[in-house]
Amino acid sequence: MRPVERGPAPRTYAKYGDAIEDLEARLDIYCSYCERRLPTSLAVEHVVPKDLSPRLETEWTNFLLGCTNCNSVKGAKPVDVSDFLWPDRDNTFLAFTYVKGGFVSLADNLSETQKVQAQALLDLVELQRHKAPGWGNPAPRDKRWQQRDEVWAAAERSLELLEKLGGVDEAVEQILIAAKGYGFFSIWMTIFNDYPDVKKGLIQRFIGTASTCFDPDGNPLNRLGGNI
Ligand SMILES: [Zn+2]
Repeated sequence: MRPVERGPAPRTYAKYGDAIEDLEARLDIYCSYCERRLPTSLAVEHVVPKDLSPRLETEWTNFLLGCTNCNSVKGAKPVDVSDFLWPDRDNTFLAFTYVKGGFVSLADNLSETQKVQAQALLDLVELQRHKAPGWGNPAPRDKRWQQRDEVWAAAERSLELLEKLGGVDEAVEQILIAAKGYGFFSIWMTIFNDYPDVKKGLIQRFIGTASTCFDPDGNPLNRLGGNI
């Protein structure tokens, strides 16, 4: 899951919905949880549900961007922030592993506490749900797993091309354009793990990626002040 940096509040909001354009300008047009690209249908997502904490309803630091699936699954489930990892507080890229076929699971090498917090975040938005047996049963309209599968395949094809062309700049540029168009930052970062130029480009081009979560070669680092 892409770690993000929303920055200081651009202004105050009378209604939370008024923040959508500022959020998209800061975090780009991707769901903060599942990473899919949605140019027109993202919603302001409240980390702590607005129904449970009206005080945080219009609070910038409580906002992320959510798609219909992540938003509706998360709903008004009670959230004690310290029980979870969060893309705006932690380096959530270190917390999860994306693999071929559209699967998401906990990363290896997490501490016991991190495992519990990472699993809590996965469960909160049911991100790991997949049609394969044993992976929960996604709702009929929940195609996040399928999109991950498709984008994984597209990214793999791009990798083959890059290897064939020997890593030339034009190919890197084309890959960055494709990645922005498809979304799913973490899948591209995973597939191009051996290509620092691609990783650096992804971190820069996906607006709002927390650059302090990565070293100059695009390798993930623990986030300062975060749980991971
Ligand atoms: Zn989503």
